[in-house]
Amino acid sequence: MIKVGLTESVALFFLIIIMGVFFLWFWGGRSKRGRRALRDDFQKTEITLRCPYCGNVFFNLKKMEIVQCPVCHNFVEED
Ligand SMILES: [Zn+2]
Repeated sequence: MIKVGLTESVALFFLIIIMGVFFLWFWGGRSKRGRRALRDDFQKTEITLRCPYCGNVFFNLKKMEIVQCPVCHNFVEED
């Protein structure tokens, strides 16, 4: 059996808590940044279009100059 004093056990307890908080902060921040980068990449992709009337984002796979929005059926011109 390992003998651990009160000071050591308290120090170890706080060390574990701090490491846990730091890990969660680091991990959460990284995944949030990843999601944002993924969303930006999606919006920057040339085959996606945002409908100015309803805000729907959809694919323009055939890269046509004028496409019809699948939600509100308005015609959207590619920039
Ligand atoms: Zn629309």
